[in-house]
Amino acid sequence: MTSAYPFLPGLMPFWYVTVFVLGTCFGSFLNVVIYRVPAGLSLLTPPSHCPVCKYEIPWYRNIPLISWLLLRGKCGNCAARIPARYFLVELLTGILFLPVFSKVIFYHEPLPVLAVYFGLTMLAITTVFIDLECRIIPDKTTGPAMVLGLVAAAAFPATWHCGSHWLALAQSLLCLIVSGGLLSLFAIIGAKLFRREALGWGDVKYIAAIGAGLGLKGAYFTVLAGALAGSVAGIIIMIWKKKDFKSSIPFGPFLALGTYLWILFDRKIIGFYEAVVKHFQL
Ligand SMILES: [Zn+2]
Repeated sequence: MTSAYPFLPGLMPFWYVTVFVLGTCFGSFLNVVIYRVPAGLSLLTPPSHCPVCKYEIPWYRNIPLISWLLLRGKCGNCAARIPARYFLVELLTGILFLPVFSKVIFYHEPLPVLAVYFGLTMLAITTVFIDLECRIIPDKTTGPAMVLGLVAAAAFPATWHCGSHWLALAQSLLCLIVSGGLLSLFAIIGAKLFRREALGWGDVKYIAAIGAGLGLKGAYFTVLAGALAGSVAGIIIMIWKKKDFKSSIPFGPFLALGTYLWILFDRKIIGFYEAVVKHFQL
């Protein structure tokens, strides 16, 4: 197993730098997604431009992190402010990629799983920013994430611990359908019980995408951790701002947190669960 790994100990700093730089480049793309998808704009055309003066940003002024710092958060042409979010998303993506990479190396997981982990980390990041600002989780982010999960399973069945391409694809598809289906039920029952949308369809599709990429356990943990973290945050906000529960906070960022925690700690979480079951002899 070790021999199949191209990571010599001495070269690890190089790989970490590479992964960080890769993360910032993906983060740069996520900025485009966060800005354009909720606005209904195309991701491909027009090329990156300043929203104020329409100046087309040349590649040398579009370098992740560095350009924003050099231009001090301003457009190079008209000096309009470029929000700190652009810098933050690039930095965050670079940083969040590092422990994911480290975990895959540490446990000697099949390398193609990185595509799924990085892809879903990106989904989590866009979900935080888009859901906080626009209260939606767009199909244009969850759709590609579902496709990524299915394609990765079909192409690299080892990521599903099986040898057959078809079997891995079937597992991924089944997990997509079951996790999305179960959450649909919750959404429908919740809407009837509370007479308002307790769980949006964006959340349902998000969980279906997590099912396709991380399996049922991953989807289940994402919902559980998201609901727990969301409830705690909701209670704190209610006490703090004395708002009622109707002005509630979006669920997406908490689901995103659950997803990222699962990607990093799935083995530890399963181990903890098994220890609890054994201890109480459930
Ligand atoms: Zn400008």
